[in-house]
Amino acid sequence: MCAASYGKEIFVLAEHRKGELRDITFEILAKGRELAHKIDATLTAILLGYNTKSFADTLRDYASKVLWVDDERVQDFNAEVYQRILSHYIKERRPILTLIGHTAFGIDLAPSLATELDIPLVTDCIGLDFENGKLFAERQMYGGKVNARVELRESPSYIVTIRQAAFKAEEVKLKGEIVKVESTLTEEIAYRRFVEYVEAAVGEVDITQADVIVAVGRGIKERENIAIVEELANSIGGVLACSRPIVDAGWLPKDRQVGSSGKTVKPKLYIAVGISGAFQHITGIKGSDTIVAINKDPNAPIFNEADYGIVGDLFKVVPTLKDKIAELKSG
Ligand code: FAD
Repeated sequence: MCAASYGKEIFVLAEHRKGELRDITFEILAKGRELAHKIDATLTAILLGYNTKSFADTLRDYASKVLWVDDERVQDFNAEVYQRILSHYIKERRPILTLIGHTAFGIDLAPSLATELDIPLVTDCIGLDFENGKLFAERQMYGGKVNARVELRESPSYIVTIRQAAFKAEEVKLKGEIVKVESTLTEEIAYRRFVEYVEAAVGEVDITQADVIVAVGRGIKERENIAIVEELANSIGGVLACSRPIVDAGWLPKDRQVGSSGKTVKPKLYIAVGISGAFQHITGIKGSDTIVAINKDPNAPIFNEADYGIVGDLFKVVPTLKDKIAELKSG
C-alpha cells in the first residue's frame, strides 16, 4: 500500500463485554476525536458485535461514522475473529490510525493484527499526537518512573493501544452515520473459541460501589497495623481497600485490591495511605472525585494525582485525622 493512497480516517475499536460498552471505548474516542480534528480526518468507530444496534446508536454520538458488523461469531471477544474482520477493513479503508484499548482484549489483538498488516504498533500509550505529519506517542518506562516521547517511523498507517484512564471520556452529540457492513468472516475458527466469562468471587464488600474508600499500601509495614487505617475508614463510613503488595502478602483479600490487576473504583473520596502511586494503582482510581494522599515521601508519584496531599508519617497522621473527625462529629 503506498502512502498517498491512504485516506484520512481514524479508526477506534469499540470494546464491549457482557452487554455493555466499556469505559475505554469512550476514552479512546475522545482522543481519536481530538486527533481527527487536528489532521482533518474522519473519526470512525468500529463495532463488532451481535444484536448490538443499541451500541451503534450510542457510538454515533461520539464518532462521525460507525462501521457496524452484526455477526453472531463476534458476540463475545475473540482475537482471531476480530483480527480477520479488522484487517479486512484496515486494508480496504486504509485509516491513518487505528486506536485500540490497552486492555486484556487489546493486548491480545493488536500485536498480531499489526504483524499481519506489517504496520507500526505502539502499545500502552498515555499520550499521542500528530506533529508535522509525524506521529508521536508517550509511554512510561521503568515501572512509571520515566515518561518517554517516541517518534514513530513514517508510515501510511499505525496501530496504537491506549492505556485505560489515560484520557478522559467526553460527552458529545456528533450524531454520526451508522453503516452496517459485512462481517467478511468466511471461515469458521475452531481452534480458538469463546467459552464463558469467569467472574472473580465477590467478597462481603464491593469496593467498586463505595462512595468513600480508604486504601492502605506497603507503607503500613505490618499486617497488625492495618487496623488503624480500617478504623479511619469506619469513622467516615468508608470501606477499606489496598494496593497489590498488601494482597500479595495475604493481608487482605484480592477483592480489596485497587488497580490494573484489581478493581477500578469511582468513589467520591479516595484516601491513599502509604501508597506510592505506581501507574498500575493509579489506573484504578482515576475516576475518583477527590483523592487525598498520605505519604512521608514528598516526591511520591501519588501526589501528582492527589487533590489534597499530607506529607507525613501515616502512624501519626492517621490517628490525628481520626481524632479530628471524631471531634468534629461530636461537635
Ligand atoms: P510501595 O511502592 O512500596 O509504596 C509504599 C509507600 O509508602 C511509599 O511511597 C512510601 O514513601 C510510603 N511510606 C512508607 N512508610 C510510610 C509511613 N510511615 N508513612 C507514610 N508513608 C509511608 N499495584 C496495585 O496497587 N494494584 C494493581 O492492580 C497492580 N497491578 C499490577 C500489575 C502488574 C502486571 C504489575 C507488574 C504490577 C502491578 N501492581 C499493582 C504493583 C505496582 O507496580 C506497585 O508495585 C504497587 O502499586 C506498589 O504498592 P504500594 O504503593 O503499596 O507500595
